[in-house]
Formats: sequence, structure tokens, C-alpha cells
Amino acid sequence: MSAVAEISNPATWRSRAAGLSIEGRAFVDGRYVSSASGATFDCVSPIDGRVLAKVASCDVADVNLAVTSARRAFDKGSWSRTRPATRKKVLQRFAELILANQDELALLETLDMGKPIGDSLAVDIPGAARSINWYGEAIDKVYDEVAATGPAELGLITREPCGVVGAVVPWNFPLLMAAWKLGPALATGNSVILKPSEKSPLTAIRVAQLAVEAGLPEGVLNVLPGFGHTAGQALALHMDVDVIAFTGSTRTGKRMLEYSGQSNMKRIWLECGGKSPNIVLADTRDIERAATAAAWAIFFNQGEVCTAGSRLLVQDSIKDQVLEKVIEVGRTPKPGDPLDPATKLGAIVDTVQMDSVLKYIDAGRNEGASLVLGGAQTRRDTGGCYVEPTVFDAVSPKMKIAREEIFGPVLSTLTFKDVDEAVRIANDTIYGLAASVWTRDLSTAHRVARDLRAGSVWVNCYDGGDMTVPFGGYKQSGMGRDKSLHALDKYTELKATWIDLS
Ligand code: NAD
Repeated sequence: MSAVAEISNPATWRSRAAGLSIEGRAFVDGRYVSSASGATFDCVSPIDGRVLAKVASCDVADVNLAVTSARRAFDKGSWSRTRPATRKKVLQRFAELILANQDELALLETLDMGKPIGDSLAVDIPGAARSINWYGEAIDKVYDEVAATGPAELGLITREPCGVVGAVVPWNFPLLMAAWKLGPALATGNSVILKPSEKSPLTAIRVAQLAVEAGLPEGVLNVLPGFGHTAGQALALHMDVDVIAFTGSTRTGKRMLEYSGQSNMKRIWLECGGKSPNIVLADTRDIERAATAAAWAIFFNQGEVCTAGSRLLVQDSIKDQVLEKVIEVGRTPKPGDPLDPATKLGAIVDTVQMDSVLKYIDAGRNEGASLVLGGAQTRRDTGGCYVEPTVFDAVSPKMKIAREEIFGPVLSTLTFKDVDEAVRIANDTIYGLAASVWTRDLSTAHRVARDLRAGSVWVNCYDGGDMTVPFGGYKQSGMGRDKSLHALDKYTELKATWIDLS
């Protein structure tokens, strides 16, 4: 069999999955360790309900050990005070090792959270490596400043690493979200304690070893798997953690702010939820293209995307045309075996999330929206968690499915009469993560882009992005930005040093 035929064959991935040896222990002070209490939890695959591994269930004692290790490493200076060029080399080597182990990491990601293996291979793992590499590459090209003071003094403005960073991340892009924190936090010289989601801890655990292999000193990266209310809370309340870089729900994000107030006023950076509007105006140049993009804006990654275009706002005169195409596109990606490279739509992360998605579908029906595609659980015989691509028409802005983040493959279609009404509906949300507008008119595009209260606005496309472009939210979608050089702000303190030259 040729190499291409081999990697396109589901049997290849199933047999590789069967042969995997999976590490479930925490990583503290440069080595794998069981949790202090010896407690574990079952890591269950949403593909078929199989237990993949027993994973260390970390709690207060483990957090204390990891913080001590991270602080010791930070104070020692073997990472925090090295030359940026040295950190760059290590991070680039780390990124190379992630790519060298791409197949194994992609398999872990797919088994653990149910996304298609094709997406893990094309998006998650290379994206994670790119983030680590990008910050490594950047860090010896960032300069500090000298202030424009008078001749009798020198005002230096320098950036210093904050110290110990707790990175608390979600399950929808487990390694990628972790890498958006690890890249800038490590590049700037911090020690990091990574707390992956209890729903998807496996790749975080695995890459800790790769980081040490790349030359990261012991204690600079610790990984503590565990639950939010145990390991997550202990980390966020710890008096010797300087920063929490969080990605997850708005509800937990608010808790993080409380934990900071209850403890040491640690810096809290939040990347939270969304209910992003995708506005299609009647003057759109290519309606088919806009509708196809609208479908994938909600079905990609089973709709488990913070920026998912979950509200489709269509000008009333073209609604039928747009919706017809969205439904046609939505019929094609039948949820399938995530280990089959041909699968475009995989499993929902677990039964809790699947039940929550199904409840929202019921709420849509009960509130009077019109279900025009999908709406049910599927592939029940597998023992896994699968939901059909689902589309609602005739959704009104007050309905639950128009207001709350569903985090599943469920699209709510709303209509508007003119641009002002579109912007009003689009902004009528507690969230402000992303938005999109489709129009052929340049001034309308600029005006709407300006008026949308969102951290990312796409014009005539959906979900574009690059490491060079900041990512984050307005309003209750969070504060601070991941990606780009702006992310360095989250992990550095600004120091002013005033030198008398008189
Ligand atoms: P979540 O808030 O339930 O959990 C996120 C992380 O926080 C997990 O590691 C979890 O264990 C931890 N956690 C939960 N409760 C905690 C507590 N009380 N104290 C401390 N830690 C706690 O979110 P989730 O379900 O894992 O992820 C989905 C959410 O993430 C969605 O709302 C999605 O929009 C958001 N998200 C946002 C972005 C972004 O960049 N803005 C990216 C991806 C996902």
C-alpha cells in the first residue's frame, strides 16, 4: 500500500489507536507522577464510550507541589533569565518534536475528544506547533523601550516575566488552546502549570515530556490533569500563582475573577464563550459561497468552536435561497467514525455535552422555531456521542437558541430588513467574540465591521486567522488577547526604571 493510501485508510488509524500506550499521570518537576492522593478518573472516548486511560486526578496537594516546583525553577533563573535566543532554540525544538510526533498526538486528540482525525492532523497539531515556534521565533526580536524623558535622567521601560502562570484550558481544541498560552508564556520566561480539561487531558500530558526533551528545564512546565472544582480552583486560588490564563466558558471565567479577588489579586486573562452573528446581506456577491461558509461556520468541529457562527442573520429577501444551500451543505457531512480520514463531522465530546445540545434542540422546538434539518442523536449503536447537523429557521432574537451558547452543531436562522436592524440584532448579546458580514458594498462592509462589538470581524469570509493576528473577545467573551505579539502583554509586567544622570 502506498503511504498516501495507508494514511487515508481508516484501518491504519484504528490499528495505530489500538497500539497506543497512553500516559495518564501528571507531570511535575520534570517527571511523570501519580496524584498525591493516588486518585484517578476514567478518560472516556466519545467515539465509542471506551475507557482510554486512568488519569491522575490532581487536587490541592498536587497544585502545591507544582507551584513550588514552578517557583523554584523561576527563581533559579535557568529559564527566566536565559538569553531570548536560547529560549527561542528550545521552543523551536519543542515545536519540531510536536510535529515529529504529530500522528500520535493527533490520535490522542481524536480519541479523547472525538474530532475527526483529518482535523487533528490538519488543524490542531500543526497549529499548536506553529504557536510554540512562532513565539520562539519572535522573542529575540522584541525590544524594550527608553522613554522620552529629559537629558538629566534615563527612563527605561522593560518587560519582565510575571513568574508562575496557571494555564487553564478547555476541551474543544485541547492542545491548540494550550499552545496559545504556552508559546507566549514560555517565550517571555515564565514557569507554567497547565491544567487541561478533565474531558481531554491526554495531549497536554504527552507534550510535557516533549518540552523537557527539547531542553526546557525541570519545573518550567508542569501539567496537572484534574477537575475544575479541584485542580482548577486550587490553582486559581493559590497565593503564589501570578497569572491565570484561562480559556473556557464565561461562567468559569467569572469564577476566575472571584478567585483572584479572594486570593492574591493575580492577573486574570479570559478567553470565553460566544454567540457569533454571521450577517448575510442581499447584495452579497456570491450567495452560494456565503451559505456554504455559513454551514461550515457552525458544523466544523461539531459546532464546538468558541467563534462558531451560531446565529445566521439573513436579509429577508434572500433568506430562502441562503437557507436552501445551508441545508444542502448540512446534509452531506453525516457524523461518522472520527478515526476515518474521510469523516468531516465527529463525535460530541461526552454524554454531558451531547445531552446539553439535545436539550437546546428541544428548547428551540418548544419556543416555536422551525426545525429544518437534523435535530437528533445518531450512531447510537457505536456507544459514542453523535448529533446530526441541525438547522432552525424562524428563530426570534429572544429565543434561548438565539441567546445562549449551545456549543454543538446547531444553527439558528434569523432575518432582518435592513443593515441597521442586522447590526442591532448582532450586538444584542452578552458576548462579543466574533462576527461576520457578507456584502459587495465597500462602505457597508467597513461601517458594519466598525459597528459590530466583537474582537474579530470577518468580511466576506468566516473564521480566518493567523498567529500574526490577535484573538479575543469584547464584553463577556473575555479580556486580553491570544496570538500575535499582543499576547506577550499577558505574561509580562512592565517595569519603569528611572535613572538619575545629573
Ligand atoms: P469550562 O469553563 O467548563 O472549563 C474550562 C476549563 O476550566 C477546564 O479546564 C475546567 O476543568 C476548568 N474549570 C471548570 N470549572 C472550574 C472552576 N470552578 N475553577 C477552576 N477551573 C474550572 O469550559 P469548557 O466546557 O471546557 O469549554 C467550552 C467553553 O470554552 C465554551 O464556552 C467556549 O466558547 C469556550 N472557548 C473559548 C475560546 C476563546 O478563545 N474565546 C476558545 C475555546 C473555547
